[in-house]
Amino acid sequence: MMVQLAAGIDIGGTNIKFGLVDEDGKIHSKDSVPTADFPDPKDLVNTIAEKIGIFLKGKKEAVNSKLIGIGIGAPNSNYFKGTIEFAVNLKWKGVIPLAKYFHDKLNVPAFLTNDAKAAALGEMQFGGAKGMKDFISITLGTGLGSGIVANGKLIYGHDGFAGELGHTIIIQYGRQCSCGRKGCLEQYCSATGIVKTYFEILKSENPHALDALDTNQIDSKYIYEQALSGNEAAFYAFNYTGELLGYALANSVAYTSPQTIFLSGGLAQAGELIFNPTILSFEKNLLPVYKSKSKINILASSLKEDDAAILGAASLIWQQQ
Ligand SMILES: [Zn+2]
Repeated sequence: MMVQLAAGIDIGGTNIKFGLVDEDGKIHSKDSVPTADFPDPKDLVNTIAEKIGIFLKGKKEAVNSKLIGIGIGAPNSNYFKGTIEFAVNLKWKGVIPLAKYFHDKLNVPAFLTNDAKAAALGEMQFGGAKGMKDFISITLGTGLGSGIVANGKLIYGHDGFAGELGHTIIIQYGRQCSCGRKGCLEQYCSATGIVKTYFEILKSENPHALDALDTNQIDSKYIYEQALSGNEAAFYAFNYTGELLGYALANSVAYTSPQTIFLSGGLAQAGELIFNPTILSFEKNLLPVYKSKSKINILASSLKEDDAAILGAASLIWQQQ
């Protein structure tokens, strides 16, 4: 039997993960390489092409397998052009036509989209959104990424950059954002945002509270562990983060009336600590017309955190079959 496989490639600031995914979402082979090893994107294309070739030829099981396309999730991606554009977290400067590089090398269709949009596609193809036509997927990582699916289609917008919920302003004159504006949602509701909140809470209790701390060692996981062990400041940091996220999600419902909102990424791994305040605030701030219809759920992504990015990127190909 011929097994068709789509390559899913996730390009992150630290690591590049890739795998070969079949129609049912089974990953047949996966690997990762450090992003810093590839200052020239063409070297990355050659390396991944070589590894895919070795797998397809080498394994007995793969004798009858065939590569049908390459899906790539990466920051600052333009789906329409297949380019990564001015990504601040990558060393590749300017506009990189990465989809074309892969197409030229492997002679199969290659598509590229933002990593958060890929996560939404993965949820729709292989996860909890299977069969859903209207949902929103939120990735709470270093930043806040989102993918919006309406009427069964991922929304790209006229230029490919739709769905930047992380850069909607939640606090007027709030924290400085990397985009140049102030008060963006991702400055609060993300793994880095909750650290800032935690520091603010500690300082409000005692102006010198940070002096004795090695602040570089404090990340969202540390705050999670503190909250679990009963630290009130840490617990309150989660409450505040969830409260703001609930506001933002309640507002986002007004645009597309989703059936479900999925949360994934490092901060979503905090479980009830983040979900409870988010759901509370969401339900309190939802427009009544949406409350009267069937309930809108806020759920954890059903994809395994480790595999979600590869599955999402591969879905760019599977969605088109
Ligand atoms: Zn911003």
